[in-house]
Amino acid sequence: MNQPQPISAPDHHGVAQDIDWDDFRDHLATADQQGRRRWLHPKKPSGKWHRRRAWFAFTLIVIMFAGPWIRIHGNPLLMLNILERRFSILGQIFWPQDGVLFAVAMLVFITGIIIFTTAFGRLWCGWACPQTVMMEMVFRKLEYVIEGDAPEQRRLNAAPWTARKIFKKALKQVIFLGLSFIVGNTLFAYIVGSDQLLAIQFDDPREHIVGLTFMVLFTFLFYAIFARFREQACTFICPYGRFQSAMLDENSMVVAYDYKRGEKRAPLHRDQPHDKRSAAGLGDCVACRQCVAVCPTGIDIRNGTQMECVNCTACIDACDTIMEKVGYPPGLIRFASLNNIERGEKQRFTPRMKLYASVLAALIALFLFLVFTRAEIGTTLLRAPGALFQQTPEGRIQNLYTMRVINKTSRDLPIELRLENLAGTVRLMGAGALIAPKEKLAQTSVLIELDPAALSGNSTKLKLGVYSNGKLLETVTTGFVGPRR
Ligand code: SF4
Ligand code: SF4
Repeated sequence: MNQPQPISAPDHHGVAQDIDWDDFRDHLATADQQGRRRWLHPKKPSGKWHRRRAWFAFTLIVIMFAGPWIRIHGNPLLMLNILERRFSILGQIFWPQDGVLFAVAMLVFITGIIIFTTAFGRLWCGWACPQTVMMEMVFRKLEYVIEGDAPEQRRLNAAPWTARKIFKKALKQVIFLGLSFIVGNTLFAYIVGSDQLLAIQFDDPREHIVGLTFMVLFTFLFYAIFARFREQACTFICPYGRFQSAMLDENSMVVAYDYKRGEKRAPLHRDQPHDKRSAAGLGDCVACRQCVAVCPTGIDIRNGTQMECVNCTACIDACDTIMEKVGYPPGLIRFASLNNIERGEKQRFTPRMKLYASVLAALIALFLFLVFTRAEIGTTLLRAPGALFQQTPEGRIQNLYTMRVINKTSRDLPIELRLENLAGTVRLMGAGALIAPKEKLAQTSVLIELDPAALSGNSTKLKLGVYSNGKLLETVTTGFVGPRR
């Protein structure tokens, strides 16, 4: 049988070069010399940082799953209904007409990520990203429960297919699929809202073919991510890891190996005193590779900051445990900036961070201003398509309009329209007064009648006030056409 050939990599001229497998920059930690996936079995993490991270993840998981079911003023805490273009943030309903608000919110989000990454590297990925939180704190933990720690997992994989192995593997996949269904449904609820999700789940399936299709797609998407892609989702799919290197500088706090203290690394010999080890030019790293064994992305942090590192801190705990065992102080791997390790400098607020922080503060202020001054309604008043002006037997001129009112509040609003810049009559068509239902769109036809003497040319600009219970909510303008002069 033909053996697969080792792969080559193109240089910057596109010419194939042999890969230096001893150089971590030349290849991926998760691919072997034939380019096949090297499946990772990270060792079960434990320690101070892991406990903190577990509590943080637990809080996030509760918020994440409860999010679609929590209501403020009857509206979801967070809903991004792209299909119906309805959005609810902190119980406030937003419409596509709030485009400026969305643009500013997006800028706040992006600037926040930039400043956070500049200061703390890829901390978001390891601690708050839903994919990592679910992978490391739910799916991976269940894997440890079913298959054991890394050595047992490797042994089980290499073992023949006995009834015990089939049972463990099948149990894991069934649980993963079930959990993926819950995760997929939660994401779906953030998009369509929890009421709609319940309707899709419990109504006649024939009425929700599209919804059910998405439900199945989301389930299998998350199953693929958590059961197969895993760290590859962070390395290859998520763009954030790629552009973080453009934001880091020598003052960014990241999970870092103190190479000044650790090198030259060498195993610790039994009964070797520390002073003799130092005298021999050896550092504190005892080359145990525990930091590599626990890494969920398979990298060796001793090679320096790398794109794959999600700052999960598992290697800090692993190394601190070893340091304690061999009698060295902890912190050989720690949260530190390059300047801290090279020059012993303390973390500082650099001019770049100050600039980003000022921009972020200004954007947040603008966002809050826009939220608090947001109009309660959004009105459009357009001439009815194809309708010409009419002349009444009394000689007055009439134009027909279509009015759309979006009620952004959580109460029904009676709507009234008044001419503000000219004398004339405004009549809303239909039975009774127009009521704009809460958080919904209302539409009606409007007939405006003016005296010809009030007209200026073929088209006269009209200014109309939109009132509710006598209170002016918005002013709109439109054109009023009349006979040529
Ligand atoms: S290098 Fe350390 S912090 Fe980075 S991903 Fe690996 S274990 Fe986590
Ligand atoms: S865990 Fe610490 S001592 Fe062990 S190899 Fe990593 S850096 Fe060196």
